[in-house]
Amino acid sequence: MKSLTIYLHEEDYQKVKQITEERRMGLSQFYRELSCIHSHLIPRKAKTGVCLECLKNNQRKYYAKIRKSRQNLTDPEKILKRKAYYQANRKKLLQNGKEYRKTNKKKIKIQRQQHYQENKERIDRENKAWRKSNKDRMDKYYKTYYNDNLKDIRARKRKYYEDNQEKLIQYQRDFRKSVKEEKNMIDDRDFL
Ligand SMILES: [Zn+2]
Repeated sequence: MKSLTIYLHEEDYQKVKQITEERRMGLSQFYRELSCIHSHLIPRKAKTGVCLECLKNNQRKYYAKIRKSRQNLTDPEKILKRKAYYQANRKKLLQNGKEYRKTNKKKIKIQRQQHYQENKERIDRENKAWRKSNKDRMDKYYKTYYNDNLKDIRARKRKYYEDNQEKLIQYQRDFRKSVKEEKNMIDDRDFL
């Protein structure tokens, strides 16, 4: 887009605002008669109406914030502080997390599904690699889980059979029937 700056009287401002919102003109910047809330009397971005000085300041603040949060993540002193805070408030933090998950169950589920769909390939690849390199650990985990929950697992199995008895019997019947039919077909073919 060619850079075009115009000077706007206040009565024209609303009109241009509309025009730029629809992006009909190749306008990139404009002046207003009134200064911005920080008293800058300099051009503004046509698309958003933000003055260039404020935009620069906002960007500077934004990047400083990112830099600081990055620093916080890697600063050994900050890491120790965070760990100490976690240890001191572990119970409360875990409880808070538990409560949050409980009251936002639906929201979390949707967020998780969305995140998975957006990063499906990477997540599947990483999970597969993790399972592969942690096979012993997973086997041990499943074994321990099975042993620890033997009673529950058996009860669940029993309940499933009871709840689906008719369906399961029908499956069995269908399966036997299909085997029989197949056998008959083979027998018939032998005769031909
Ligand atoms: Zn400004």
